[in-house]
Amino acid sequence: MTEPEDPSRDRLKHHFAQRVIHQARQILEVWQRLQQSEWTAADLEELSESNQRLLRFAERFEQEEHAHLARGIAQSLLEVEANRGRLSSALITDLNRLMQRLSRTGLRHGDRLENTSLPPLRKPIYVVLQDHDRAERLAKQLEFFGLSAQSLEKPHAFHTALAERLPAAVVMDVDFGGMGEGLKLAAKMQEGLEQKLPLLFFSHHETDTPTRLAAVRAGGEEFLTGTLEASSLLEKIEILTRVAQYDPYKVLIIDDSRAQATHTERLLNNAGIVTRTLLDPIQTMSELAEFQPDLIILDMYMPGCTGTELAKVIRHNDRYVSVPIIYLSAEDDLDKQLDAMSEGGDDFLTKPIKPRHLITTVRNRAARARNLKARMVRDSLTGLYNHTHILQLLEDCSFRARRENKPLSFVMLDIDHFKKVNDGHGHPMGDRVIKSLALFLKQRLRKTDYIGRYGGEEFAVVMPDTDLKSAFGVLDEIRRRFAEIHYPAQPVDLFCTFSAGVVELEDGDDALTLASQADNALYRAKKAGRNQVHTLREDIMQAKRHSPMDVVN
Ligand code: GH3
Ligand code: MG
Ligand code: MG
Repeated sequence: MTEPEDPSRDRLKHHFAQRVIHQARQILEVWQRLQQSEWTAADLEELSESNQRLLRFAERFEQEEHAHLARGIAQSLLEVEANRGRLSSALITDLNRLMQRLSRTGLRHGDRLENTSLPPLRKPIYVVLQDHDRAERLAKQLEFFGLSAQSLEKPHAFHTALAERLPAAVVMDVDFGGMGEGLKLAAKMQEGLEQKLPLLFFSHHETDTPTRLAAVRAGGEEFLTGTLEASSLLEKIEILTRVAQYDPYKVLIIDDSRAQATHTERLLNNAGIVTRTLLDPIQTMSELAEFQPDLIILDMYMPGCTGTELAKVIRHNDRYVSVPIIYLSAEDDLDKQLDAMSEGGDDFLTKPIKPRHLITTVRNRAARARNLKARMVRDSLTGLYNHTHILQLLEDCSFRARRENKPLSFVMLDIDHFKKVNDGHGHPMGDRVIKSLALFLKQRLRKTDYIGRYGGEEFAVVMPDTDLKSAFGVLDEIRRRFAEIHYPAQPVDLFCTFSAGVVELEDGDDALTLASQADNALYRAKKAGRNQVHTLREDIMQAKRHSPMDVVN
């Protein structure tokens, strides 16, 4: 039983909690700066001071998770200091992990979630439409995707909600509360804010240019007309609300001289770049597989083999065709440099090199390579990994799972009677369902799971550190929820289901065996009537059959 809260105490608490968030944002900003610059003593001090403030606020206002992260950051910063103010690869990785968690930590709403194992509430999306039923429906659909959404019926309810809690984004009908009133309401909302809220306008009717202009001036970043559909709306919201994530670049340095390698590492670490050094070029291939660098820095002359020979060996493997290779050498004979470049190198830097020159070259090359890779390994319709890449990931992950002695599960998933969707509603509608399932999986699965589009309406998921029972539970829940989504269509709305097969890695299995077992389990699910998840293990299926939660569809 909870005591009724004193509302003024509640408000005060909320106000201070906002300061915690503000402080957290400042820390993230300093950390993000690393992306563009080199780390100085002043940066370190600023980060340290902001972090102390965060810790103080968070402790005072009982924001446990923030306090915990601030303590972790303080600890890492102490280690930086002990390292004579220098960042190292390990410290960059630790700090980045803490920062990423900090950027995902929402504000706890009152005390209600304390002592429960629920994750902190995500900021809600406010859905503000003239047609309230529609808003309710939309909010409910967004919730299926794992977002928190709230529909608001009247302008004063909107004001109250805003005063209580700033949303992640607002979907506003231009005509909410009267012709063009929604535009004014939104403009007013943005006025008082230091940081503008992501705002999407909606109009039931096609609109004229003046209305669209007014929407832009009110800070609207999107303008939607016609039917509002949850999955395409969610896609837009995702883009608008994404926190810029800093994922440090990884550079493999291959150099037989430890002194030279250490020097290069130091320069790069100081710019927030994670490095690994290999003194013996013979181990290159296993190191590449293990570390998966964004870029390779190669010494030209090493005993045992030359840089150009090694570059050729690297390029022989399809997986590393596009990883940039930069030669670093004292060689200043232009002809020799050009020869080296034609042997699979991308750039040639001559020692001694200016730190800024090295850092800029590495950053630019790595950024472009990442961009290219993202396009090569991803499916264009859904943005998920493509067939080849998801199988490669399955291979990498099974290797790691065996070495670390951790479980690994693999899922194959196929939309049921998809041909009927195409035949009855047209191919574009089919595409929309595929996209929406892709998005649904992204929202519902963990960030550490890998999701791929295996083929037309088939998907595959690699779930590291997950045993069969949990994987089955998660997939079955997703299956249940996905079946509840409806797609607006004529004459009746469309519903879709999928079937899935889940398997766990066992001793002696390789990736291909695992894939074929999952396919097997999927086939059984289809044969048993579709809209179900199967494993090849009777006991786990049995447990589910006897579970009181089970609803027969
Ligand atoms: P089942 O429940 O047995 O899986 O039945 P199904 O109709 O889903 O299975 P089937 O594999 O026979 O048909 C899949 C259909 O998916 C055939 C193909 O035209 C369609 N399809 C494949 N890729 C795409 C795509 O990218 N977009 C659309 N709209 N349709 C696709
Ligand atoms: Mg199918
Ligand atoms: Mg199929």
